[in-house]
Amino acid sequence: MDRPLDLPSLFPEELLDLFASLGQPAYRAKQVFSAFSRGLSVGEITTLPKKLREQLMRDYPDVQPRIAAKRVSALDGTAKYLLSLSDGNSVEAVLMRYEHGTTVCVSSQVGCAMGCAFCASTIGGKVRNLTAGEMLGEVAALARDAGERIDGIVIMGIGEPLDNYDNVLRFLRLVNRPEGLGIGYRHISLSTCGVVPKIYDLANEDLPITLSISLHASDDARRSRIMPVNRKWNLDQLLTACASYFDKTGRRISFEYTLIAGENDTQEEAKRLAGLLKLYLPDRPLHVNLIRLNEVKETGYKTPDEGAARRFAETLNRLGVTATVRRRLGSDVNAACGQLRRQSAAKSGEESK
Ligand code: SAH
Repeated sequence: MDRPLDLPSLFPEELLDLFASLGQPAYRAKQVFSAFSRGLSVGEITTLPKKLREQLMRDYPDVQPRIAAKRVSALDGTAKYLLSLSDGNSVEAVLMRYEHGTTVCVSSQVGCAMGCAFCASTIGGKVRNLTAGEMLGEVAALARDAGERIDGIVIMGIGEPLDNYDNVLRFLRLVNRPEGLGIGYRHISLSTCGVVPKIYDLANEDLPITLSISLHASDDARRSRIMPVNRKWNLDQLLTACASYFDKTGRRISFEYTLIAGENDTQEEAKRLAGLLKLYLPDRPLHVNLIRLNEVKETGYKTPDEGAARRFAETLNRLGVTATVRRRLGSDVNAACGQLRRQSAAKSGEESK
């Protein structure tokens, strides 16, 4: 793995090497690592000597994301942030409060290359990967703004995390460090649309995170239509990888299923989905999260009513597949990934679409 160029991407031991080469005492490494985990940029670490600060600011980019906009849900307190990156791009992150703690949803890329037909994040394609330090900066910026300890992370914002594998893995290890945010792997979920070879790689990392698979259809023709990634790795390959992930890690697999009216929300679809999961993952603990589509006007897809979602869940449960309809946190603040970024881009004329 190439050494990243921004300081917040570095582990304490890498910072230690760096400070040693600059003739600085060892304690600087922990001091700086902990400051990045609190959302400070080098210029704000006033406990560092001024000359050292100036040298670091000259030699390394400042990648700490800045809060460009914030919307707080009147319904449930969910806070959605638009963050601007040092190169002028922007991403979104969300702070969600659950009974068991505060969770941050982070973006892993600027835009997305995966092309899911119902998703706002992919409309302008992928611009670039985020560095591990930028993702750490997302979590730290929200923690700092909210003045709260962060208990969990979900990588379910803009981007496909397994299409930015090395940086995302580094990010997971950074936030886990006790000298920094100290977030337990069991409180971290990574969601993927199904980049199959990377699911096998992830299984070999031996990290007890939760893997979440965005399924959204139960047959290849339909899935390929709404999720182009399925043309590369089909349901058979994806679910075989899931079974292998489970066998290797013993972790429960969770499936995301976005319900789209008239597209994938019928009773027939629910029955086929139950059959499929039981065929590939017999007797494995799994859970299906049903999410009613957050409508993105560019796509034309519509959200089903609550009754349709409830009936879909009931059918799965009756057939022995645990399913719940997820509460739509922050539905009044456009909390679906990519919508805030697109609105801001449209306003500033950054994109022509
Ligand atoms: N690229 C990853 C993670 C980001 S999206 C993945 O595909 O899993 C997080 C989840 O939100 C995915 O399940 C995605 O399919 C879903 N999603 C995207 N747009 C949505 C929308 N408009 N309404 C509801 N869910 C959406």
